[in-house]
Amino acid sequence: MQRTYIKDLKDWVGKEVTISGWVDVRRDHGKLIFIDLRDVSGKVQMVALPNHTEAHAAASLVRSEWVLAVKGIVNKRPERMIKEGLNGDVEIEITGVTVLNEAQTPPFDVMSNGHEIGEDIRLHHRYLDLRRTRLQTNIKLRHKIISLVRNHLSEKDFLEIETPILTKSTPEGARDYVVPSRLYHGKFYALPQSPQQYKQLLMVAGFEKYFQIARCFRDEDTRGDRQPEFTQMDMEMSFVTQEDVMQINEELLVRIVETLFPEKKIQQLPFPRMTYKEAMDKYGSDRPDIRTDKNDPNLLAFCWVIDFPFFEKTDEGGWTFTHNPFSMPQPAHEQWLMNKENIGEILTTQYDVVLNGFEIGGGSIRNHKASGLKTVFEIMGFPEERIQNNFGHMLEALAFGAPPHGGMAWGLDRLVTLLTNEPNIREVIAFPKTGEARDLMMESPSALEEKQLKELNLKI
Ligand code: ASP
Repeated sequence: MQRTYIKDLKDWVGKEVTISGWVDVRRDHGKLIFIDLRDVSGKVQMVALPNHTEAHAAASLVRSEWVLAVKGIVNKRPERMIKEGLNGDVEIEITGVTVLNEAQTPPFDVMSNGHEIGEDIRLHHRYLDLRRTRLQTNIKLRHKIISLVRNHLSEKDFLEIETPILTKSTPEGARDYVVPSRLYHGKFYALPQSPQQYKQLLMVAGFEKYFQIARCFRDEDTRGDRQPEFTQMDMEMSFVTQEDVMQINEELLVRIVETLFPEKKIQQLPFPRMTYKEAMDKYGSDRPDIRTDKNDPNLLAFCWVIDFPFFEKTDEGGWTFTHNPFSMPQPAHEQWLMNKENIGEILTTQYDVVLNGFEIGGGSIRNHKASGLKTVFEIMGFPEERIQNNFGHMLEALAFGAPPHGGMAWGLDRLVTLLTNEPNIREVIAFPKTGEARDLMMESPSALEEKQLKELNLKI
């Protein structure tokens, strides 16, 4: 018999169906055995009566988290018996039980919200941890956000284009994860900190509107709520102004909230804007929390922060970029950049979007002329050879008719965390690493076999 999803049982009252799923809990009252069964779509209470002898005997053996296919008749439950959290107003009278797989007793409760369980053990058995309703809901919401983004941007003629994971180490702000090359001993790929350069190269290639749900990798020191790999909603557009990019991103964020989180209230529309200086003067932070009521879990206070300085002083007294070396200065300051004057006062076209005190995205209009980009690296004190080694490919590409372009990226994990009111991003990532960058389930990072090291010409 074809399998019926638990959510659809209401359409099958009085009929015999087969449902499949996991045993949530079994309550044995001797004559009556109750089993709550769970599938991806919901939960239902089932009852085995003694008159179905075989089914009753089988039901008496099952334990929590066993996997069953159950044949049974869908009965309407009396109004006063309708149980919170179980599938509406129906229950199943079991006529047959097939055990598809047994299960060991789980090392922790998978029916609670899980906040009370130590995170290490949760991550060690993440596949069990993910069974709990809270995480199932988070992962489903994450999917809905991503599919809304995909639909929205596709409607607006954006193309989703994948970019390489094995790429080249370039100084972009964070430390790179590197991968040794087997074919070229002593050479390394790097994992992308973001698709920044590739998306700009896609603009040079003429695609005009790109986006990607992109994995990014940054080998940063332990920061509890960061992940070595994380996901960006990354986009880039050609022939646009700062205003255009901000507009389309704001529209998309509002649509996500209104469609998927109707219980939430956006504090102010359009999102208020403030300059970096205003944010620092008034809030002492470039990601100000402007909520009028910080106790309201459903209040979303978005704001834009603009007019960031392009450069800041390094500890050694030189200059480095504050956000993105590929950005364009504001039009009024382009000449300063080219003349390498008033460097500390040059403002960039960077715009960050902040939600309840967390930066959830940022972007800029890019320097689409090779001379401009090169000047940025010269101001940072890079010798010609280093500029060519690290960014020669970008300078070369920009010289082949690069259109004016700009874009933005969101930290998707952070956005989902805030929208689901979760305390940290690990709660919205299926298989996160610990705050110490370890995967406790796979036990990574791990040692390599001697043979692998040899192939890579590596000595430990
Ligand atoms: N690539 C930038 C980042 O990862 C975002 C952008 O400017 O589009 O922060």
